Amino acid sequence: MTSPRTVVIAGAGIGGLTAAVALAQRGFLVSVIEQAEQLEAIGAGVQLSPNASRLLIALGLGERLAPYVVAPQALNVMNARSGRVLARASLADAAQRYGAPFWVIHRGDLHTVLHEEMAATGRVTLQLGTRVEDVAVHGNGVTVAGWRNMEAVDAQGCAVIGADGLWSVLRSRLTHAEEPRFARHTAWRTLVPAEVVSPALRAPTVNLWLGRHAHLVHYPVRGGRLVNVVAIVRDDWREAGWSAAGDRTEIAERFSAGRWHAAPRALIGAATQWQKWALYDCAPLKHWGQGPVTLLGDAAHPMLPYLAQGAAMAIEDAAVLATCLAQAPADAPAALRSYEAKRLKRTARTQIAARRNGTVYHMGGALRTLAISAMGGTRLLRRYDWLYGWQPD
Ligand SMILES: Cc1cc2nc3c(=O)[nH]c(=O)nc-3n(C[C@H](O)[C@H](O)[C@H](O)COP(=O)(O)OP(=O)(O)OC[C@H]3O[C@@H](n4cnc5c(N)ncnc54)[C@H](O)[C@@H]3O)c2cc1C
Repeated sequence: MTSPRTVVIAGAGIGGLTAAVALAQRGFLVSVIEQAEQLEAIGAGVQLSPNASRLLIALGLGERLAPYVVAPQALNVMNARSGRVLARASLADAAQRYGAPFWVIHRGDLHTVLHEEMAATGRVTLQLGTRVEDVAVHGNGVTVAGWRNMEAVDAQGCAVIGADGLWSVLRSRLTHAEEPRFARHTAWRTLVPAEVVSPALRAPTVNLWLGRHAHLVHYPVRGGRLVNVVAIVRDDWREAGWSAAGDRTEIAERFSAGRWHAAPRALIGAATQWQKWALYDCAPLKHWGQGPVTLLGDAAHPMLPYLAQGAAMAIEDAAVLATCLAQAPADAPAALRSYEAKRLKRTARTQIAARRNGTVYHMGGALRTLAISAMGGTRLLRRYDWLYGWQPD
């Protein structure tokens, strides 16, 4: 017989781990089931805007994150060919404006801190190497069924949270959602040691270079010792998965001297290893769950990375979910519907805004320059007051 206060989470990404911490801190027992054999963060850097950093601080993780994060002072948007600054926004002012810092961090560091806190609560069990396949609701709660080493396993709880990412199995069980839509772009990611690049390229800023059918983002992570580089290019390569190796000659050719300024090319040239993945998103879903089962993070609202909000939305989901379940622990279905009602509109707006940013980033030069220069730095940020200024109820 399972404790009525056990919540099962499928997936130990940023969303699943944050939900586990938030629920455990509210007194729930949590069982996290992860298909990977080891907990490892895929990808390199992640931007944590104030709407996300505020919640991590509220979970008591601020001090533990401090040695790892960089608080960038500005967001710079540049023309890829000329290097001309199209817009510059002060992120230090933004931190004051939104009451919480902008941070950038290595995903591995964020995972480590969340995992440590999860263990410290003493209320979370983590089963690795176990793939969730199905979920069944019954009189006593809900059972998740899966496989580990070719053996059937199950876990029971009063609620099940599908935090199983873009290709969520639970999304396909719970909704009639279509498969994720291929965005015909690929993200190439690498980390470059800060000491091998010029001081300007390792400065504490977030930098966005906009080129034709491609853009490049870079910022320092790991306390400034590494520079995280993400290059997004138009591509029909659409393999699902997160860690295909990228050929450095191919990416260097895509960022050729005629079209790209020397600074972003220096970063591309300094990188020795690349990982790439095809980008997908979904149209906003109308509902996420049924009975004592719901979705969270990319499983609920996969979005393109052009607003740097996928992880931030997963962190917000986790905080709201924990509050709703804590308010009605004896009625998980009602708690989960209340969570969904609080999250659906905001995450849909973010998904759409991310798609729209992609259109602006990749539109023709003159039009785009006009659109971005016209906004200027301050207006650029103010447009996102709804996003960064968000606070849980
Ligand atoms: C290039 C790029 C840059 C980005 N930059 C940012 C950024 O700066 N800021 C930001 O906020 N967001 C960013 N994002 C988005 C962010 O990475 C994702 O939105 C976020 O990681 C989603 O977290 P998640 O926990 O929902 O899903 P995931 O991280 O995908 O985790 C899902 C977990 O579930 C596991 N799993 C899957 N299926 C099963 C199963 N059947 N059974 C058990 N386990 C399962 C997986 O192994 C995985 O560990 C970026 C994304 C990309 C592609």
